Amino acid sequence: MHHTFLRRLELQGFKSFAQKTVFEFPDRVTAVVGPNGSGKSNVIDALRWVLGEREAKQLRGDSLANLIFAGTPKRPAVGFAKVSLVFDNSKKLFPIDAPEVTVTRKIDRSGASEFFLNDSEMRLKDLQPILARAKLGARGLTMIGQGQSDLFVRSTPEDRRGMIEEILGLREFRLKKNQAERQLSTSEINMEKVRAMLDEITPHLKLLRRQKSRFERRTEIESELQTFETAYFSHRYYAIAHDLKKTSVPVARLEEEKNKKEKEVFLAEQEVKAVDQEHGGVERGKMLRESLNELFKKRAELERAFAKAEARIEIESVPITQAEKSAADMHTFLGTIKEEIAIIVDWHEIEKIKISLQSITERITRFFDRDVTHRDTSDLKKELERIREELEVVGKEIDTLRVAEEELAESGQRANQEFRSKVEVLENKKNELRKLDQELVNLRFDYERVVMRREELEREWATLGNKKEDLEKLPEIKDVVVSSDIERKMIRLRGELAAIGEIDPNLMKEAEDTEARYMFLSKELEDLTNAVADLRSLIKELEHKIHADFKNAFSSINDAFDHYFKLMFGGGKAKMKLKIPEIKVQDIVVQESGEEVIEEKKEKGSELQAGVEIEISIPRKKITSLEMLSGGEKSLVSLAALFALISVSPPPFLVLDEIDAPLDEDNARRFSDLVKDFSKSSQFVIVTHNRATMEAADVLYGVTMGDDGVSTILSLKLEGMK
Ligand code: ATP
Repeated sequence: MHHTFLRRLELQGFKSFAQKTVFEFPDRVTAVVGPNGSGKSNVIDALRWVLGEREAKQLRGDSLANLIFAGTPKRPAVGFAKVSLVFDNSKKLFPIDAPEVTVTRKIDRSGASEFFLNDSEMRLKDLQPILARAKLGARGLTMIGQGQSDLFVRSTPEDRRGMIEEILGLREFRLKKNQAERQLSTSEINMEKVRAMLDEITPHLKLLRRQKSRFERRTEIESELQTFETAYFSHRYYAIAHDLKKTSVPVARLEEEKNKKEKEVFLAEQEVKAVDQEHGGVERGKMLRESLNELFKKRAELERAFAKAEARIEIESVPITQAEKSAADMHTFLGTIKEEIAIIVDWHEIEKIKISLQSITERITRFFDRDVTHRDTSDLKKELERIREELEVVGKEIDTLRVAEEELAESGQRANQEFRSKVEVLENKKNELRKLDQELVNLRFDYERVVMRREELEREWATLGNKKEDLEKLPEIKDVVVSSDIERKMIRLRGELAAIGEIDPNLMKEAEDTEARYMFLSKELEDLTNAVADLRSLIKELEHKIHADFKNAFSSINDAFDHYFKLMFGGGKAKMKLKIPEIKVQDIVVQESGEEVIEEKKEKGSELQAGVEIEISIPRKKITSLEMLSGGEKSLVSLAALFALISVSPPPFLVLDEIDAPLDEDNARRFSDLVKDFSKSSQFVIVTHNRATMEAADVLYGVTMGDDGVSTILSLKLEGMK
């Protein structure tokens, strides 16, 4: 036995099926029969419901809660309704790796509805495309409800197209297209939002970027400046260090030399002094000379005294006469007398005058009577002898001193010689010392100049905000040409730095944040743009697919439609025609007055929106409108369309609820023949009261309702009955 696609339907608590009821569909055509109101259509409702029908009306109820067995006087209500539909999946109509697929729907009294696909819960939204791919829909021509046999005719051109698309399996693509369109519009809205946000931050970002690039330039300049400064300071520092070494070493050497020289000078001086002291020279000479001069003076005095004494002796030895009395003596004597008399003349006392004159007379007598003949010279001679002796002593002394002086002169000459040579040495040394001193002064001067250069450099270094000790840590950069323009460059770079100003960390942070936001938004815009482009092309593809498949099938459908129509009506003609609808478009029109008016215009829609119109001609009748057809005729036209469709694209199964009801006997027979024919490619579940249809069925279920208001079924195998 071959597998059927639709395997089993399980009902529990659904409408009149209070207890669990299982319909097996082991063969191609299953008919469900039973008296009115026994619950046959509830089976169809269950099929519709489990495949996602959302409208209560389509399920013949006010609310979905009415789907749960409400209870009867004899049977209590239940809490939930559950319907499972089991499919064979050996042909992989469902994209699931399982041999059987069960779609289950459950509802409780709270109205919460759940879907399951093989026990895993699923949202209807996600289930729908899966069902659509398997060409399973809750509505349309694959599931024609009670009283809907004329569905195709009754429907609008757009709905007809939908039915055709469903049976062609294009519903899946329609759903996808609709979804893509929804996504597209959301994406476009988001894109606009993102674009607006980008537009908003862009001017500010530009500003921030400029600022940031200025700051970046600052870092660049700083590092450039740093390189220059390092080169500049290193070069100068090491040049100075070199010069310091060059000057300090000779200074030290010279100082040492000078010390040595000073010692030498000192020693030479000592030697000169020693020579000087050794011969006693000048001092002694002076003393000798002084003593000699003293002696000379003494001798001269003695000689004079000697001569005087000799002369006296000579004089004394000659007797003295009156005449020999010197005139001078006389003169003096007389002068004295004269003066005395002059005084006496003025006197008045005779006695006194007499006495005085007597004295004068006596004195005159005495003057002239003086005895000079024998004078004693012995004392003088003794004196003379003494002087002569003394002269002799002095002469001897002078001789001694003269010898000493001569000797002294002689030795002095010798000492002088040595002294002079020593002094010469000393002078030479002193000269050398002076020269050294001069050299040292010069060198020290050079050294100090270098030290000053270093201090100057250190000051310059410190002015730039550097630490003193870092200067010494500068690497020695060799092979660097520190040209004169390095300083110019440094000044220029410092100027640029000053012009840029200090880096504002807040601004940098803001720039980064804004940049990140910009990047984020740009990325989002890009993603959205890509998504929009993808969606547009997906929509295009889907449209193309739907359009192409539809077009391809449409002419075959039309041919088949005409064929089945002729079959049912015994002639005539039927045709489906595509009609592109006019779409209302609102347009803003500026009038002459300048006023803006919204005008409604009608535009031609796309081919994809084209609806399906039906044109028929019935033999021997003049039909201008479908409305003119009878109820049975409408059903026949609809059935012709149904069979045309399923002949071109057979669905896995069809569920038809009493669509044979309006048919006359001939047509009912034709219908059951067609069902039999098409059952080769599609499975049928048919609710019917029609005998011919029942005869076409392989499996027959009878539904009855007991007095407890609960539907029960019994399976009637038809093989035996046929
Ligand atoms: P006909 O042949 O006349 O079309 P039918 O066999 O198709 O009849 P249905 O319309 O399927 O009959 O069944 C209707 C029956 O189901 C009614 O008796 C109704 O009371 C019962 N029913 C419908 N909904 C519920 C519910 N929620 N709880 C209990 N019974 C319900």
